[in-house]
Amino acid sequence: MPFTIHGLPVSQGIAIGHVHLVSHALLEVSHYHVAERHIKGEITRLDEAVATVQGELVGLKASATAGQAHSEVGAFVDLQLMMLEDPMLVEAARVLIAERRCNAEWALVQQMEHLVEQFEQIEDPYLRERKADVVQVVERIVKVLLGQPGNLPPKRRDGLGTVVVAHDLSPADTIGFRDHNIAGFVTDVGGPTSHTAIVARSLSIPAVVGLHHIRHLVEEDELLIIDGTRGVVIVDPDEHIVEEYRLRRTELGIEKSKLNRLKDTRATTLDGEDVILLANIEGPKDVTQVRAVNADGVGLYRTEFLFIGRDSLPDEEEQYEAYRAVLKAMGGKPVTIRTFDVGADKALNNTEARFEPNPALGLRAVRYSLSEPKMFLTQLRALLRASVHGDLRIMIPMLAHSHEIDQTLMLIEKAKAELRAEKLKFEEKLPVGGMVEVPAAALALGMFIRRLSFLSIGTNDLIQYTLAIDRSDEAVVHLYDPLHPAVLKLIGGTIQAGARFGLPVSVCGEMAGDPAYTLLLLGMGLRNFSMHPGNILEIKQQVLRADVGELAPRVQRILKMDEQSKVREAVARLGS
Ligand code: PEP
Ligand code: MG
Repeated sequence: MPFTIHGLPVSQGIAIGHVHLVSHALLEVSHYHVAERHIKGEITRLDEAVATVQGELVGLKASATAGQAHSEVGAFVDLQLMMLEDPMLVEAARVLIAERRCNAEWALVQQMEHLVEQFEQIEDPYLRERKADVVQVVERIVKVLLGQPGNLPPKRRDGLGTVVVAHDLSPADTIGFRDHNIAGFVTDVGGPTSHTAIVARSLSIPAVVGLHHIRHLVEEDELLIIDGTRGVVIVDPDEHIVEEYRLRRTELGIEKSKLNRLKDTRATTLDGEDVILLANIEGPKDVTQVRAVNADGVGLYRTEFLFIGRDSLPDEEEQYEAYRAVLKAMGGKPVTIRTFDVGADKALNNTEARFEPNPALGLRAVRYSLSEPKMFLTQLRALLRASVHGDLRIMIPMLAHSHEIDQTLMLIEKAKAELRAEKLKFEEKLPVGGMVEVPAAALALGMFIRRLSFLSIGTNDLIQYTLAIDRSDEAVVHLYDPLHPAVLKLIGGTIQAGARFGLPVSVCGEMAGDPAYTLLLLGMGLRNFSMHPGNILEIKQQVLRADVGELAPRVQRILKMDEQSKVREAVARLGS
């Protein structure tokens, strides 16, 4: 029987595909069927993972002994090595794969659960506790298995895609699916401006989040329709429903190609004001889409995606190549590259990460960068070296204090001095700007204006920090309101201050790419919008229909309102 679940629409479009359950919790692995001809390969996949873990354990033991360490470490490693050779574990899992035609990680976890049950029957408390070692060694193998492409089911031959269903996905997980031909994403948790949602949009993959229990309501391989525009997921749809959604998907495609006609039209309002429409990107691969819509440049390159979801950090050369590739591909158009905004939900793969009680308020963005000056300097050197290949601007995220700007500027000077000494070329007058995404910055703009060449308003974080709403928590998502009078005052005030001091101001948060807010932002005086490239033509359509002379006084009145409902009504009327 088909049934429908409603969630939060975060990435537009319609996907029709078969469920692939993905788990973040390592031992909650997915279960899927493996065709007869792939059984041998599946067993080899298990054997290779076991061999990798064997190598890891031997290495661990060697380093423990070299450091005069603890004989206990050696003993526990020996125990785990023994378990790897125990036929009750790996050999039994091999048999399960062949007999049940299932995937390796599932077979292994099944066998582990069976062994754990047996351990629990043992009377001797010491031996009973050894079940923890079985679990640990299985976790190690599963981790290796999940890191392999085999974690995704083979491509289907019925022409339908794979829909990833998870309790939660980190931005790194999501970007990891980039090359796996995924049709859509659905998750139990998450909000529309979470970084996972932003990544799904940047991959142009339909996604619905905040579905609460979908992970437990669907089964592997079940048919699913995702309507990423309306936030609807249909489980086990019948033929008629599938046909209806196919039709809707075709209609959406037609609408999109109609918008394509605006690609080479200048974004000028009815009363002749030019508007700059820039793109947000996560890496060089996104530039194809940016060029396809003929964006005026890149307004936000989130470089942290070069750093997360991997075990080692990118060196100067790798970073230089990535930045150079974007600058070259943009052919002289402006490219604003933001220094890495790691931390909070974009944590590095750092096994020694300390516990943070409140990651969004913790060591994130520029705070993190300044706490790791070597890593920061490497990025600044790479950026400076890349600056000779185009029109580069550097942007610093999450500023709140003037000394954060001063320290960053000092590091930039240090990087320049090093490059001069090494006779490496760079652009001497590289503009440095900052993001206004913490209310403190929007309320103390003077110190920013005096030190920086441009400002960009990050509405995603500005709303999060103004309203004290975690942007990735679906439990409070109904309170995440871009039209809250306090938020509008901070955005409007920043745009006005920029105009007064002749400092360019853009908006690069999700508000800039949402047609519901285009007239409002234009009326506030904004002329610089940066968004996901997939939204540029729709926003251009709004700009072409706008008369800013008429909008400005109406928006000034909205900025004076202090009732959310009144603001909402007035903003809705701007288009009429
Ligand atoms: C923002 O906060 O609005 C922004 C553009 O930065 P990010 O979404 O990467 O935090
Ligand atoms: Mg931000």
